[in-house]
Amino acid sequence: MQRQPLVIANWKMNGSRQLTSQLAQALRADTGLLNDVTVVVCPPAVLLPAWQQEVFYDDVHLGAQDTNENSAGAHTGEHSLPLVSEAGAEYVLVGHSERRQAYGDSDQRVQAKVDSILAFAGQKLKVVLCVGEQEHERDSGDTVKVIERQLATALANVSAGQLAHVVVAYEPVWAIGTGKTASPEQAQDVHAFIRNWLQQQYDAAAETVPLLYGGSVKADNAPALFAESDIDGGLIGGASLEPEAFLAICRAAQ
Ligand code: PEP
Repeated sequence: MQRQPLVIANWKMNGSRQLTSQLAQALRADTGLLNDVTVVVCPPAVLLPAWQQEVFYDDVHLGAQDTNENSAGAHTGEHSLPLVSEAGAEYVLVGHSERRQAYGDSDQRVQAKVDSILAFAGQKLKVVLCVGEQEHERDSGDTVKVIERQLATALANVSAGQLAHVVVAYEPVWAIGTGKTASPEQAQDVHAFIRNWLQQQYDAAAETVPLLYGGSVKADNAPALFAESDIDGGLIGGASLEPEAFLAICRAAQ
């Protein structure tokens, strides 16, 4: 099955209104690129309205970096799905390793967030589920065990019909923001495992799920990573803050 390449920018706690204009203009100038590659930008939530003003006709799509699993209430500092959706988000990252490690996103909490996103207002939002092993887990040969546990828990309540609203991003924790990229072969091995696992659970519906690689993707290593058969695009942190580098990465997915 032919899946449209997908590249997602994760600005983390970075960016500005000025960078919003710069990156949006650079992206929108390359209409050929935006026809071939689905590009999503996940800025800090406070910049979503600025992004909304820059994008037209969904040529660039928007996402939130996280959500609270509750739809409203006394959750100071958090953002709900109705709020991020109203601000233009169509995608929501869930289970990013920085959230898992520093902000209490256990496998169970990730599951609750996935469930709430897929239940939201008639499935208007897509989940970008991040999974990945830590360095000591890879060193002790537990990579696949960790990925399987994260997938099985996060997707426990997800039906085959809902899978069309799911993206999986493989992000080895040791490669995020470290400059250490997984080799194309290492990444492909894990992506093939994820595809097989999804096929076992969901049969043909698994074919629709884009599988992204994330972890120190740069303009120079993107072509080899994206050439692998089970890598459908990337989740890009640091390099998404540099318009030229991010455009080169998106073009490598074309
Ligand atoms: C990320 O934050 O998801 C990420 C992959 O970051 P970086 O590209 O900087 O490693």
